[in-house]
Amino acid sequence: MSQAACPLCEMTDVLDHPDHFECLTCGHDWPHAAAADAPAAARVVKDAYGNVLADGDIVAMIKDLKLKGSSEVLKTGTKSKPIRLVDGDHEITCKMDDMAIGLKACFVKKVPA
Ligand SMILES: [Zn+2]
Repeated sequence: MSQAACPLCEMTDVLDHPDHFECLTCGHDWPHAAAADAPAAARVVKDAYGNVLADGDIVAMIKDLKLKGSSEVLKTGTKSKPIRLVDGDHEITCKMDDMAIGLKACFVKKVPA
């Protein structure tokens, strides 16, 4: 158990109230949730084989994929330019065949650098 310390004076004479802490040294109080406010861990995006993908990786198609709204088909093995991971349904944005596209990570594999 680590003793809560006051974020202002760093003393550990702290009262633990049901929903907040109170510092007996300087009187500062702060909510319990403060420590949990840290940014959520970055989302992990994995390719079809479970390799973790990161911005700047190169990926290749593992299956032919017809692009929505066009007659273009991305062929198996087509390599991307360095990818960028984004939020949403299609986790990857990148350029393939000079087209900017969004891809699902499950349709690609990471190409070793
Ligand atoms: Zn204090």
